[in-house]
Amino acid sequence: MHIRDLLLDDPHHDKYLILRTFAHVLEFSNMQVAVAVEDEKGDVEQLSIWHYDFSRWPNDKVCAGMVLAVKNPYLRSVIANLGLSLCAFHPSDIVVLDQDHELFPAKWKNTQRNVTKDAAQWKIHGNAALKKKNFQKANYSYSKGLSAPGLNDILKSDLHRNKACAELLLGLYDAAKIDALASLLNQPDDKSKELDSKALYRAGRALYELADYPAAKTMFDRCLRLLPHDTDGLRELKRTVCRITEEQTGHFDFLAMSKNITFTKDFRAKQANYVRRTEVRQTEDRGRGLFATHPIACGDIVLCEKAFVATDPPWLKSQKQQNFIVSPSSKHVSTSGHAETWYAAVKKVFDNPSLASRLLDLCARSKYNSRLSRQEVTSVSIVDGLPVVDVFHILDVLENNGLGLMARPDQTQAYPNIPRPQLGAHYDSLGVWSVASRANHSCLTNAEYSFLGDFMLIRANKDIPKGEEITISYVPTTGKFEHQKIALQNWNFGCECKLCQAETAWGGTRSPLLTGADSYEEAEPPVAIPDKRILGLDRRTEPADRLVNVVKLYIDQIKDTYPATFFSGLPSIGLAKRHAWLMRAYTLGGKFLASSFITSQNTACMYAQAVIRDHGFVPIIEVPSEKVSFNRENIIMTTDLVDAFMFLGLFYEMEGNAKLAECMKEHAMQSYVIMNGSHVGYEVLHQ
Ligand SMILES: [Zn+2]
Repeated sequence: MHIRDLLLDDPHHDKYLILRTFAHVLEFSNMQVAVAVEDEKGDVEQLSIWHYDFSRWPNDKVCAGMVLAVKNPYLRSVIANLGLSLCAFHPSDIVVLDQDHELFPAKWKNTQRNVTKDAAQWKIHGNAALKKKNFQKANYSYSKGLSAPGLNDILKSDLHRNKACAELLLGLYDAAKIDALASLLNQPDDKSKELDSKALYRAGRALYELADYPAAKTMFDRCLRLLPHDTDGLRELKRTVCRITEEQTGHFDFLAMSKNITFTKDFRAKQANYVRRTEVRQTEDRGRGLFATHPIACGDIVLCEKAFVATDPPWLKSQKQQNFIVSPSSKHVSTSGHAETWYAAVKKVFDNPSLASRLLDLCARSKYNSRLSRQEVTSVSIVDGLPVVDVFHILDVLENNGLGLMARPDQTQAYPNIPRPQLGAHYDSLGVWSVASRANHSCLTNAEYSFLGDFMLIRANKDIPKGEEITISYVPTTGKFEHQKIALQNWNFGCECKLCQAETAWGGTRSPLLTGADSYEEAEPPVAIPDKRILGLDRRTEPADRLVNVVKLYIDQIKDTYPATFFSGLPSIGLAKRHAWLMRAYTLGGKFLASSFITSQNTACMYAQAVIRDHGFVPIIEVPSEKVSFNRENIIMTTDLVDAFMFLGLFYEMEGNAKLAECMKEHAMQSYVIMNGSHVGYEVLHQ
């Protein structure tokens, strides 16, 4: 078809245009450029290319004089900053045509330039480009060489092997693996062995990057059999074995990981995922869910997973170009972090189709093309040598499964650069975790999630039997039920947990009371940074008696919003923050008056116990005064819990009850680890 045949806002499925670029190229961001184009009839239009990926192109940018086949051309009426524009949304919709391509229009052929190179010349070209670190050009030259005249077995092997090198550097790991293996000579002479060891090393590197560590190990083993002292091979084998161990045991050096994130500002984990204690399967009524395949003890790791893609959180970002997304269905504009994640996800899937299903499977229907079957939506087919990636389906997946990143204050004190992602897409940066995203929501969870960089950790907050569904809380439960309900509607569901059922059955509201209490407590928090002196405080403000009385009045009123008829045996989390405030206030209150010190600490102890009960922890006293365990059937965890256990530990220590003190400190540490993923930072906050 031609430009003059285009209809406005029609996707023109299965059609294509042949266009030549000319004049200005306008780069909006790393995911969108606009360029003037003409067709054979001489009509001109502005072409906006989204999600371009140069790794398979002859050049590393769009320039004048290129001839393009544009598939599914879309003449769009609304696009930010551009007005009317011809759009190519999907990276596979653009094919750069060489002069020798059958679709290349004869009238645009440059007869002078049309000198055919042979395979050996293409190899020389490729090597020169590789040396100049122009990997696109190198990749392109080797590809051309493989279909050029004069190709023999030796050249073919060289071209494949060198192509694998360029592809590795471009992040085309699927292709790098295939080319590396295609280059193998399997001959007994030393030269062939050396070349083959190089190829096997490259195949191993590609598999490592694809996170197929056992297959990578096989390649490095084979590489070292041919060349036993190859230092690169030995180094990579060692690294690969570490990943395999992590994958199998779930043992990670969290302190080293934290330091790496803090000191190098490298936010992405290098570790392997540990997901072998869970499986994804159908639930009875809530789509797919995550289930325990082994019994998991309270405090243990349920799974660890690094992000499929994640952009740097805002505080790690250098000033970058502003990106934006204009969604075709809603004409809704998103900026920056979200656009970058989208770009990164499209690129990852386009470059490595074998990884596609991990992302695409999170959303089995295409909102943009309902004709497609589940199989078509969740896998990537190859057309004209390019993977077909529906960028809008990926956007859909990100919107439904992405997590935003923000700093978590308590951990931040210990390690300032550890980001704390929050569920929901309201932050400036975003990531997607393909297994962890499967965990369904409950307000009364059996697991808590946390992050070390882009590494998501889920730990059991109670003993989880084999076969039980793993649940996490998508939004913090604060007792403001209406707010929680609205927040969950963003994920298009309502929670049916025991607590939500109780709230619905009761039918009242406590939000205004909680908001009122918040305003008093936050105006004068009785705690700043605790240290080892009985939560004695470096920077402290001691609340006035008047304020203490106001908080107590709020507690009385909030208690009435948890009638036992409905809430018996359930957490009363709306009270926890108040009780924690009073616990801290009384810890301080007696500090300077020796006579009132003991009374004050006893009162603080009572409030600490209340905090623990408010979280749903029901004490089971095994041996009086020596050890306390808890029934954790219906619990919610917050950082106030750690402080309450810690306070009790110090309180019993003062009282001379060493065993009970130890027990409480263990609960404090365990709660911290469950909520933060590891003990990292605990010793800084609670020595
Ligand atoms: Zn609920």
